[in-house]
Amino acid sequence: MIDSQVIRRCVQILFLGMVIIIGIKFYSFVAQLENGNISDIERPPGVEAFLPIGALVSLKYLLLTGRINEVHPSGLVFFLLVCFTALLLKKSFCGWICPFGLLTEYLSKLNSVIFTKPLQINGFIDYLLRSIKYGIAAFFIWTIFVKMPEGAVEQFIYSPYNVISDIKMLKFFTNISVTAVIVISVIIVLSVIIKSFWCRYLCPYGAVLGFISLFSAGKIRRNELSCTGCGKCDRICPSLIHISDKEIVHSDECTACLRCAGICPEEYTLQLSIISRVLPVKPIAVALILLAIFAGGIILADVSGHWQNKVTNRQYLMYMMSQNMIDKKIAMPSMMK
Ligand code: SF4
Ligand code: SF4
Repeated sequence: MIDSQVIRRCVQILFLGMVIIIGIKFYSFVAQLENGNISDIERPPGVEAFLPIGALVSLKYLLLTGRINEVHPSGLVFFLLVCFTALLLKKSFCGWICPFGLLTEYLSKLNSVIFTKPLQINGFIDYLLRSIKYGIAAFFIWTIFVKMPEGAVEQFIYSPYNVISDIKMLKFFTNISVTAVIVISVIIVLSVIIKSFWCRYLCPYGAVLGFISLFSAGKIRRNELSCTGCGKCDRICPSLIHISDKEIVHSDECTACLRCAGICPEEYTLQLSIISRVLPVKPIAVALILLAIFAGGIILADVSGHWQNKVTNRQYLMYMMSQNMIDKKIAMPSMMK
């Protein structure tokens, strides 16, 4: 039988590959616009997966109007699919799909190489630090769903700033400031010193999924009768969950990584299962369910016209000009065509 971690790594690499392809395609799309060319490369809709704040505004728009907006539809679709995975299989998005989750795992491996006794934050300080990501997520949710007036939602969605927010995000990285380099470097160093620093303490996306995952149908379940209490599961859990004293792992930190189930020496004792222990989900099934959710969701959105946005390349050029992101002399000839 293939090891659960090999299957998980394959899924992570598959999604990382897709992110890289989307990144290259989007870079080429923006580069052609910057050269005043509007005819060749299509914008990859998947880039909107990196606009979670925009997705929250889109969700509010959907709740208010019953419509999916035409500016960033795929961002909303992706966000809803990710939330659905959390309702079904805990924070499997973090453990199986997110490229930052994968990066965090490799930084944690570096930690094990460098330090003989890794620094571990426990107890009250750990709770306090974990509340930071919930604080950040709560701030965005409060600002968008409570503070933002209803009339301002549509105005924001169709504003030039929001339409080209993906291009601005790309420029943030290609023209990165010294401050941003320092902040990112500090987070990377802290993620090496403290395992899963970014995911455990700072990621607001993980916080939203962690909260939703409390209601997840799929959970790690332990058979108390066959468990010998060896504690292997406790020692391997990257989320520092004490599993061996629980019948069901409810923790908001569980990423359904299946390391605990994989290391348990007692057969059918520790498993990811849906609703009750009688419905165990094998690692290959987790992979197939996740792939089916994303592939099915994206195909459905595409067929119903809610994946590709309705912004033309000419409009992109116009919005970039209005935001001083392109020289008028370069943009105008294409605009006049
Ligand atoms: S080791 Fe088990 S309990 Fe810990 S995060 Fe992975 S699946 Fe969840
Ligand atoms: S690894 Fe298995 S047998 Fe050992 S404590 Fe955990 S659940 Fe029990």
